[in-house]
Formats: sequence, structure tokens, C-alpha cells
Amino acid sequence: MLGLKTGSVRAVDSVSLDIEKGKTLGLVGESGCGKSTLAKCIMGLESVTSGEILFQNKPITTWNKKELHRKMQMIFQDPYSSLNPRHKIGSIIREGLDIHSIGTSSERKAKVHELLGLVGLRPEHETRYPHEFSGGQRQRVAVARTLALNPQLIVCDEPVSALDVSVQAQVLSMLKDLQDRFNLTYVFISHDLSAVSHISDHVAVMYLGRIMELAPSELLFASPKHPYTTALLSAVLSPDPNNQPERVTLTGDLPTPMNPPTGCPFHPRCPKAFDKCKAERPELLEITPGAKVACWLY
Ligand code: SF4
Repeated sequence: MLGLKTGSVRAVDSVSLDIEKGKTLGLVGESGCGKSTLAKCIMGLESVTSGEILFQNKPITTWNKKELHRKMQMIFQDPYSSLNPRHKIGSIIREGLDIHSIGTSSERKAKVHELLGLVGLRPEHETRYPHEFSGGQRQRVAVARTLALNPQLIVCDEPVSALDVSVQAQVLSMLKDLQDRFNLTYVFISHDLSAVSHISDHVAVMYLGRIMELAPSELLFASPKHPYTTALLSAVLSPDPNNQPERVTLTGDLPTPMNPPTGCPFHPRCPKAFDKCKAERPELLEITPGAKVACWLY
């Protein structure tokens, strides 16, 4: 169970999650819901004020930082700002190998070519600069760089949000193929539910730093339980024009975590709120095997 205070704000509260090796956990919610903060906690980039994060059954605070960095990598939303514009693609991908002194110079070069091939680019691309690539290609380069150190866990923070829809599908499909091939574990953060549904095995829906619903992906998308999940899903168009979900409009803005509402944090915007919701906070409880919801309706 994790808690993280930034200044006087409890940015992530009472979060308890397991991520299975070789699977993807999707984290969804509006911006400011705490999902990126949670990702930084998982990576050891933010320290938690209470609770513990275990990686391979060992607290991350007891890992050698360099070793942990090899095993956990991150992909960011904007590949352009995460790639040094003055460096050629080859040296960007090779950077981790250089830092960790892995292999000889010719082995590193061969590894760069192998990584470029894995992400659908060609060996000759190593001499080009980031600005010579499209957004989708730049994200492929960022993925190649994360793979250089053979990581086991990759945190993908909005990795396709900045890309065109058609390119998004290609990058998602590449991430899925790489996961199957290398048994990678992903934490996939997005506000885009359709991207999350494509890649996630389990999905956690976050609101104001708390998990509102946690369930296997298929179950959550077919039968959302929490009113917040229902509202998020109702905004996503179904591919079947005759079977569109009933639109639930959320009123009001996301409250500030500096002054969270009493009781259920979602109650000021919840169309199903009743008296108890304002006074008492519901815990995240299992309602069917593997599926948990924090709501007094259950
Ligand atoms: Fe809505 Fe109440 Fe459930 Fe919160 S606990 S989601 S306010 S019904």
C-alpha cells in the first residue's frame, strides 16, 4: 500500500498493485490523477512516504541503482524531447551500452543494428539525427534505446498520445510484438482508453491519486462497474455505430489533490452519489474474482 506526499499534497494514496511478469498493467485517468506520479514511484524516481515497492520480490530501495536502471526503463510521450537533437540515432541507442560498458565497440555497433531492426528501422538510420525522422519513427528509436539494456520492466508514459491515430496502432502493435518476444512487463499509462484496451491485460482506473477500479482488461471494458470508469468509457466511440454507449457527462472539474473532497473523492461529480458518499470513503474491494472497485454501490 503506497502513499506519496509532495509538499503538503498526497499525490498518490493507498495504492496497492501487483504486476505479473510478461503482462501489461494499464493506468488510466484524467491528467492530474496521479498516474505519472505513481509511475515515477515504481521507477524509484520519487520516494514514497509510506508503503513499499518490490521489484522481483526485493524492495527497490535495496537495489543497486545502476542495476535497477538496467532492469527498469521508461518511454516518454514526446520522443523528440527525450532524444538529444545533436546526437545521431546510433549513439543515442548505444548510450546505455556505453554507460554500462557492455560489449566491445564492434559488438555495440552490431547491437545497435539489431535493435534498429527490432523496431522496424534500417541499419543505415544510425547516422541520421532525430529531426530527420517522423514522430512514429522517433518513438521507435526511443523504444530501441530502452531495449538496449535488456530491461524487464518498461514504464510507457503516454507513449502514443502525441502520434497520429494510424501511427499509434503501428507503435502499439510493435510494443505488443516486443513484449511477446522478450517476455517484457509493461506499465502503460494513458488517458486514451482505446490505446489502453489494445495492450493491457489488467487496467487500473485512477482518480485523485487513488485507484477506483482494477480489473482484467476485457472485463473492465465490457462491464465497467465504477461510475467514473463508466463515464470515461462513455466518451469513447464504439466501432459499431448502432451500439454506442450511453453518454455520461461529468460535471465540474477534477478537484485539486491539495483539497480533496471528503468521503468518496469522486462524489462531487458522480451522477449516482448519495449521502453516504460525502461522508465515508469506500475502500477498493474485490467484487468478483480479480476485479476490485472502490464504490459504495458495491
Ligand atoms: Fe459515486 Fe458514491 Fe460510488 Fe463514489 S461511492 S463512485 S460517489 S456512488
